[in-house]
Amino acid sequence: MANNDDKFKKVISHAKEYGYVFQSSEVYDGLSAVYDYAQNGVELKKNIRDYWWKAMVQMNDNIVGIDAAIFMHPTTWKASGHVDAFNDPLIDNKDSKKRYRADVLIEDYCAKIENKIEKEVKKAAKRFGDAFNKEEFLSTNGRVLGYQEKINTILSRMGKSLENEDLADVKALIEELEIADPLSGSKNWTDVKQFNLMFGTKLGASADSAMDLYLRPETAQGIFVNFLNVQKTGRMKIPFGIAQTGKAFRNEIVARQFIFRMREFEQMEMQFFIKPGTQAEWFKHWKEHRMKWHLSLGMGEDNYRFHDHEKLAHYADAATDIEFKFPFGFKELEGIHSRTDFDLKQHEAYSGKKLQYFDHEDNASYTPYVLETSIGLDRMFLAVFSNALQEEELENNTTRTVLKLPAVLAPVKAAILPLVRKDEALVKLSKGIIDDLKWDFSVAYDEKDAVGRRYRRQDANGTPFCITVDGESLENNTVTIRHRDTMEQQRVKIEDLKSIIKKEVDVKEWLMRM
Ligand code: ATP
Repeated sequence: MANNDDKFKKVISHAKEYGYVFQSSEVYDGLSAVYDYAQNGVELKKNIRDYWWKAMVQMNDNIVGIDAAIFMHPTTWKASGHVDAFNDPLIDNKDSKKRYRADVLIEDYCAKIENKIEKEVKKAAKRFGDAFNKEEFLSTNGRVLGYQEKINTILSRMGKSLENEDLADVKALIEELEIADPLSGSKNWTDVKQFNLMFGTKLGASADSAMDLYLRPETAQGIFVNFLNVQKTGRMKIPFGIAQTGKAFRNEIVARQFIFRMREFEQMEMQFFIKPGTQAEWFKHWKEHRMKWHLSLGMGEDNYRFHDHEKLAHYADAATDIEFKFPFGFKELEGIHSRTDFDLKQHEAYSGKKLQYFDHEDNASYTPYVLETSIGLDRMFLAVFSNALQEEELENNTTRTVLKLPAVLAPVKAAILPLVRKDEALVKLSKGIIDDLKWDFSVAYDEKDAVGRRYRRQDANGTPFCITVDGESLENNTVTIRHRDTMEQQRVKIEDLKSIIKKEVDVKEWLMRM
């Protein structure tokens, strides 16, 4: 596909055309940065959630799940620091009247320098051919080193200024780098201001007695306030984890990039409660473990990288992001944070209740430290979907659009196609196959158009298998099974279909790769 912008547009239109993602309330022209998952999207999203849940909860006997409410007592957000410090630095362009996140403008500037590095790498790879060593090139080429140095200097200055709340310096940096409004090209900026991202709402009927509430901006706090309930009722011993998936809400200033940055989104989080002093070792453990989970899906090692934080959130003593190469460049997909005992201590202070763990081995009580893994389900969806969408040149000079979703995540595992739709016996046999397979897999029936067109439709839909039922099937109970990625076709017995499909789509087969 031509360039990244085109690719991203194609991703968005494909997601709509094939029933994956629709704009929310589209008949009213939509609501900015709010999206609905359609018939295929809801299945893909559920499969990603299940894949995460199985890896985190089912496979770990010391991790359990909960499902906390979206509304929480408002003091929660005082204690967590969100009321005072859950802000984004925003800047307005005086000419275009558009509002931006100051840090995002600077990061986008650095992404452009990074593109230059990638161009140098591509050029050199072409020049040196097989002898090309990327690592060596990156660490020795003068031009690349210069670019990298520039990125590091900019990001480290921005990190320090944000940490010190020196918003004037953030503006100065934007001006020094001569960053222009991407829409209008104007460099006429206002000062940088902080903006709180929480959505407020009210609980109660009468205006006087109504209580101000927030829609939770993260799922984590529902876990912290339930820490002792779960520990006691589940008789959990440290180290142990509590996992949760659910909606979170943020009034994002710059809500673009489709489902990458939404105002209502879903998180999959796990808080791991540990003994103070062991956080460095658990940080390393979860970093490695989470990366293995991503790699098990086979979406390409080169598409992931760690980005260690310079600027740490108010609660963290170490933090890293797993970044993924989206069509618009490397961006955060998952955060891994060493949150210390900040949250539990804060909830102790604000609630006046003890949130401590009694360690029988040490015969002493302590406030546990917490290691958190936090991934956006919608961002994971975008990573999977955009990486899967490919345009392939075929031998006969045609192209096919194929959605190479990891088979374990695909919404429909197999489509059953009677070769001739008017042939009652073929239709009956096809429906019989569906009735048998649907107990184990989500399957679809497709009888319209020539079989070649149906194959293309299922390719674009991401269906890993097409099963064609023809005249021979009636004679000897065999069908043709076609594989989406290789387009290979095999004649197989109907009774073997289940085991053939299972081998490719079974969660166990995929998670065993971790
Ligand atoms: P960003 O810097 O991109 O705003 P963040 O660092 O604020 O993200 P966290 O608070 O660490 O994000 O949230 C954990 C995860 O939740 C992120 O890694 C991301 O996958 C997801 N996430 C956060 N904000 C959004 C959003 N507005 N839309 C979709 N997913 C989000």
